[in-house]
Amino acid sequence: MSSQIPYLDGNAAAGELSRVFAVDITAAEGQCGSCGATRRFAEAHLYMGGPGIVARCCVCEHALLRVVSTRHGIFLDITGIAYFRFDTTELKARSG
Ligand SMILES: [Zn+2]
Repeated sequence: MSSQIPYLDGNAAAGELSRVFAVDITAAEGQCGSCGATRRFAEAHLYMGGPGIVARCCVCEHALLRVVSTRHGIFLDITGIAYFRFDTTELKARSG
């Protein structure tokens, strides 16, 4: 399934998501909760035309993550992702 709506890649979410995550989530690997594809988050298709950000699986277009920033806080829905895997060797290298 492909969408006709233009999108950016997952890297475009780095600034907004850095407000929630202390690590760079765009470098993390995640598994789609629908089709099971495992990809770097940066490969997700990012839709920013609504009130927030929707990241969709680059294989099946399933909604992986939604983030909306409001005056009441940041709402994060990651129910579309089966899991994230963070490369601990990268984290150690960054922390010195
Ligand atoms: Zn998928």
